[in-house]
Amino acid sequence: ARGMRLDKLLAHAGCGTRSEIKRAVRLGRVEVNGAPARDPGMTVDPEGDAVSLDGKPVRYREYVYFMLNKPPGVISATEDAREKTVIDLLQAEDRVRNPFPVGRLDKDTEGLLLLTNDGRLAHELLSPRKHVDKVYEAVVAGAVGEADVRAFEAGVTLDDGYRTMPALLAVTEVRESEDGPLSQVSVTIREGKFHQVKRMFEAVGKRVVRLRRIAMGPLRLDPSLPPGMYRELTEEEMEALA
Ligand code: URA
Repeated sequence: ARGMRLDKLLAHAGCGTRSEIKRAVRLGRVEVNGAPARDPGMTVDPEGDAVSLDGKPVRYREYVYFMLNKPPGVISATEDAREKTVIDLLQAEDRVRNPFPVGRLDKDTEGLLLLTNDGRLAHELLSPRKHVDKVYEAVVAGAVGEADVRAFEAGVTLDDGYRTMPALLAVTEVRESEDGPLSQVSVTIREGKFHQVKRMFEAVGKRVVRLRRIAMGPLRLDPSLPPGMYRELTEEEMEALA
């Protein structure tokens, strides 16, 4: 069986800092298989041993999976000297297992971002060979029309010469504004080049003014999650990803 230190297991489960955990153990608040633990450094089997704090079972999970509704203005990185990151949006106890964002959204892009410490899943979702669909809603300056839909379907050439794979563009609404027409669209892409959606619209002479991801593979952004908020994935979502 895999063994790990009791204090580490408790810390990873979000039960407090190492010193808080040491104190809890000394006070007899932590039990292992029904008996008070004496030593915070004792080895436990996270799968097999029953650990509790104040009588409540401590559930150890190696991996965490959070769905975040990324707000604009934060960067998709784990740490940064100047900028606020998506990890800064997490509660301290949700940061202990070092989740990282699966892929990147631009600083000004909003919407669905999966945060996990499951490197294998992240790799699967990001692997270009897996062709995981990403769905974005965008507000675009200009009147997006049939010609653009066909261009996206055929593939457009980006500023660096890269030709994109077929993408699905659907126009929801074109309305007039003081600065000319504004289009509400949805775009589905299967790759994830740097600034891809923005650069695809640039390729057809238009500018993205707002961008929000609403789906990634089987995951859909939970409409009840306000920007900046997150929750754990549900069992159904986990199964859909498996
Ligand atoms: N495409 C972009 O241009 N930006 C994003 O953040 C995601 C997709």
